[in-house]
Amino acid sequence: MKFGKSILSPSYTRPPAFKNIEAGEKFYSFACINCNQTISVEFDSLIQQGYSWQDAFGEKLADKIKEFYRIGVVGKSQDGGYPSMILVECGNCKTDYLVYAGVEEVSNSVYVVTMQGITEILEMPEIRQEVRGN
Ligand SMILES: [Zn+2]
Repeated sequence: MKFGKSILSPSYTRPPAFKNIEAGEKFYSFACINCNQTISVEFDSLIQQGYSWQDAFGEKLADKIKEFYRIGVVGKSQDGGYPSMILVECGNCKTDYLVYAGVEEVSNSVYVVTMQGITEILEMPEIRQEVRGN
């Protein structure tokens, strides 16, 4: 895996983008840096991904991703939640993006999602399909 440009980088102070018990936008959207197409990621997909992305990417890639996004040995995201990763593809130019969010279960089945990273992926090795968000 080769990382390209980042649209969003990890932050300790960024406010959450989503809380699953509140009405509001169900998708996080950003513009493709290569063609400006809008790309959307469902917050629920990030919540459901949980830790399973590490198995889907494999240990070696997961470690590389954690190093890139500066996720420490404790394995927590910068917002204090658990890190979730999803791959999304631009529907127009097919650029792959690695989307990183912190997910915290603040009480039973109440989840808060903080967006932590969006990075263009220049070279993508074979990975299991379930890590794809679109
Ligand atoms: Zn594009």
